Amino acid sequence: MIAVGHTSVGVIVGIAATQLLPDSWPLYVQVVVVGLAGVVSHYLMDLVPHGHYDFNGASPTAKSQLYLAIDLGLPLLIVAVICVIKFGLGAPSWLVAAGIIGAQLPDVFDGLLYRGFMANLSLAQAEQRFHLGTHWHNPTDKNKATPQGGRRLGFSDIWQAIVVVLALALLIRF
Ligand SMILES: [Zn+2]
Ligand SMILES: [Zn+2]
Repeated sequence: MIAVGHTSVGVIVGIAATQLLPDSWPLYVQVVVVGLAGVVSHYLMDLVPHGHYDFNGASPTAKSQLYLAIDLGLPLLIVAVICVIKFGLGAPSWLVAAGIIGAQLPDVFDGLLYRGFMANLSLAQAEQRFHLGTHWHNPTDKNKATPQGGRRLGFSDIWQAIVVVLALALLIRF
């Protein structure tokens, strides 16, 4: 999945939580619940067959860094601006932020693992195996895969774009 896909699902989880979670729950509890739901959303979304662009996480090239800035940084900036304008520092802003952070966490975690952080923790390795397992749809032919082994972006990835549009529409209309 490209990062903006997970970011969008995080936004949707955060907005849904403002409707679904009881107002009587303290905000910090809601933030934790939404963060966990965001993490779960990450694995669920990874289970859906999806493509990636070429990205070298072990030694990111200038091109990889540019992709990441556009894929991760730009949507975060746009969501942050919309949230601050619409909700200020109110509960929806916190819940959307929690949803996004949770939804990105597994990839951030594995990104750190690739660079050697926590690499010998058995729990970290178990997470990585599980996380890779959600990519059951990766090509077996290495020539058809990205350098990290994933499916390449293709027309079927239009669904990722639909999730992005849906999240933006929800956020703006909310
Ligand atoms: Zn993926
Ligand atoms: Zn992932």
